Amino acid sequence: MSTVNVSTQESLNPYEIAQTQIELAAAKLGLAENIVEVLKKPKRVLTVNFPVKMDDGTTKVFEGYRSQHNDAIGPTKGGIRFHPQVSLDEVKALSMWMSFKCGVVGLPYGGGKGGVICDPTKMSKGELERVSRAYIEAIADIVGPDRDIPAPDVYTNAQVMAWMTDTYSRLKGSFQPGVITGKPLILGGSKGRNEATARGCVFTIQEALQEIGLAPSDATVAIQGFGNAGRIAAELLSALGCKIVAVCDSRTALYNKDGLDVKKLAACKDNGALIDYGKEFEMKADQILELNVDILIPAALENVITSANADHVKARIIAEAANGPTTPEADKVLNKKGIIVIPDILANAGGVTVSYFEWVQNLMNNYWSEEEVNAKLEVNMKNAYTAVRALSKEYNTDLRTAAFMISLKRISEAMTARGWV
Ligand code: GLU
Repeated sequence: MSTVNVSTQESLNPYEIAQTQIELAAAKLGLAENIVEVLKKPKRVLTVNFPVKMDDGTTKVFEGYRSQHNDAIGPTKGGIRFHPQVSLDEVKALSMWMSFKCGVVGLPYGGGKGGVICDPTKMSKGELERVSRAYIEAIADIVGPDRDIPAPDVYTNAQVMAWMTDTYSRLKGSFQPGVITGKPLILGGSKGRNEATARGCVFTIQEALQEIGLAPSDATVAIQGFGNAGRIAAELLSALGCKIVAVCDSRTALYNKDGLDVKKLAACKDNGALIDYGKEFEMKADQILELNVDILIPAALENVITSANADHVKARIIAEAANGPTTPEADKVLNKKGIIVIPDILANAGGVTVSYFEWVQNLMNNYWSEEEVNAKLEVNMKNAYTAVRALSKEYNTDLRTAAFMISLKRISEAMTARGWV
């Protein structure tokens, strides 16, 4: 991953970007410098290198990380990413965004994140299992139900969480469901967790649509990314009556101004590839961000809206299902254009919110219905949106800065109460 946007010399380093976002919100809030200094760096970062036997008999050493940003409010929490482009700076940034994400929706957690440099699309199931088990063993000393609680992220899922929970439980000598969320239901997973990121994102979109007075049935949508978040957002929005005109994954982008059939898209993805939907609908991948749509959902990786393309974005609402899709330079352009950007730390907070519900259910050993989970999620997401919106009006600032301000207030209050600053 390039860390500089060559055309503009804009930094694309996620760690620097997260620090810039903190500085902007802290300045607006008039926060003391010593507090900002603490929050600009993760409290603890662990790098691990661990050997894994591959199917061909060779041994490969994998590099992984776990970053724990801040635990003033509670144990750290955040996913584990398996991707060839994982880097230490990316994991640090993702852990910082988790702190602020938990803060916006009022969860009793700080932020953490893990990553392993690997390409699951090129690994067998056995290799994936061995990498998952070896990684959690390597970081086992610093995680735990009351310390740091991992979860799924890009290219990790409930099965990976199951292997990790099993290895961690064996190390401790007893079943420890509270150490990891996003588990399969049979191992103490929560109903609604798999859909939660997308569902939470859709709740925030409904609020934004109401604000601009647009009915879902009149709204067009483009979604960049067709993984857990993007794909389920397409299904939920389509069920609300929105017209999904464009989607893409890392290989194919599809467009139909009359709307794509979401069920057929999902079937193509499951049974082959998105391109099976029909070659006649194929478009260039980078055009998806510049379509004339009401709602744009970046649901893949970081830095897709930068100063290089922000001026070409035509959507009225951007809902960041991905973490870090928009750079600070791009934010300036989008804000000037009056586009409502629902920031990642709010738009995709549904995932960690239901992770919290899962953890609570694990600790109580008492399980909730899907209706109960979804109803609680709806209240949390809509309240968070309303609070962010109100603060943005009060301080005459954008939603991202307002969301960071809400979290900064909470975290700094906890650090002050503990006597850290
Ligand atoms: N990886 C997700 C995120 O970025 C979920 C984290 C969690 O559930 O702990 O928010």
